[in-house]
Amino acid sequence: MPEMKSEDHQRLDELYERLRDEARRSVGYPANAAFDYAPLSRFLGLPLNNVGDPYVPSTYHVGTREFEREVLEFFSELTHAPSNGTWGYVTSGGTEGNLYGLYLARELHPDGMVYCSEETHYSVSKSLGVLGMRHIMIKSTAGGQIDLEDFAETVRIHRDVPPIVMANVGTTMKEAVDDIPAIRRILKGLAITRSYLHCDAALSGMILPFLDGAPPFDFAAGADSLSISGHKMIGSPVPCGVVLARRKNVDRVARSVEYVGSLDTTLTGSRSGFAPLVLWLAIRKHGREGFRRIVRNCLETAAYAVERLRDAGVEAWRHPHAVTVVFPAPERQVTEKWQIAVNEGTAHILAMPHVTRERVDELVADIRAGGNP
Ligand SMILES: *Cc1c(COP(=O)(O)O)cnc(C)c1O
Repeated sequence: MPEMKSEDHQRLDELYERLRDEARRSVGYPANAAFDYAPLSRFLGLPLNNVGDPYVPSTYHVGTREFEREVLEFFSELTHAPSNGTWGYVTSGGTEGNLYGLYLARELHPDGMVYCSEETHYSVSKSLGVLGMRHIMIKSTAGGQIDLEDFAETVRIHRDVPPIVMANVGTTMKEAVDDIPAIRRILKGLAITRSYLHCDAALSGMILPFLDGAPPFDFAAGADSLSISGHKMIGSPVPCGVVLARRKNVDRVARSVEYVGSLDTTLTGSRSGFAPLVLWLAIRKHGREGFRRIVRNCLETAAYAVERLRDAGVEAWRHPHAVTVVFPAPERQVTEKWQIAVNEGTAHILAMPHVTRERVDELVADIRAGGNP
């Protein structure tokens, strides 16, 4: 291999310093920056690829399927999946998991109608377009949940086609969780026999299982599939996630491909063999108890941020189960410096594991200074 040029060395050094500084100040996005996967660095020297189905061996052997299956096992237990009754894979992120859930729903119910709320992640409408699925947008409440009255009324009018519900388990702006048991009750009350429910649990899928009395969202609550991001709560140097679905549904659409000797059940062909190692190491290091502690800390920091902001005269609030703190958008200098996303005049910060009380204090001081620190 040729040596790297010294000017390129320098550019990478500069980039690294800048990114490390930015990561430290990042409070507006759900990306945990507090992780250490150093034991995995040597795997970057291998052409890892988990092409195809994680449960079916491939003729390409440089992969981490066995570890991927352990990751899936962990998430299956976490989400009360029926034992041996679910299938899934490590995705490139929450978006792919949602796309997969919708794809499966479409294969099962080609005549189905998708329902999702106004607060649904922006990527979902693109996925619906890609899949060519008909959909109806349902109103959401001030707290960000799907409006159940509007939902029930709209489904009632379209009773002749199977409803496919894209439920939010932690909306992007307010971390609101749709009332999954109520959605199921509504479908039952309308005597609907064919339906599908996918949970977009990108962020909250790694929060709610660790809280007592949290809103139910998983397979036990009536989900047919769910998608959770790996780079959000857990934290990862590469975007990743997990999708899980009921196996009996997956089996109806699977097909085999001779070229890779595996089943072409996943959306993409080649898949990261590195991401499963990241998730596996995090799971082995923290375990359920570790994640419970991490989540509890984040919620305490979020509660602290609400208090400090309110002390500063800012009308901040959050859902009791949420690490997302919602408040009116501050000055542009503040949102720029702290990488805070703004939507229709509303801003939020996320108390991810790397967001300390000191960071919150610094941010609140900047807001008090009115964007002129
Ligand atoms: C982040 C997010 C997504 C997209 O997940 P990616 O991992 O970024 O692809 C989808 N839905 C919600 C609610 C999210 O917060």
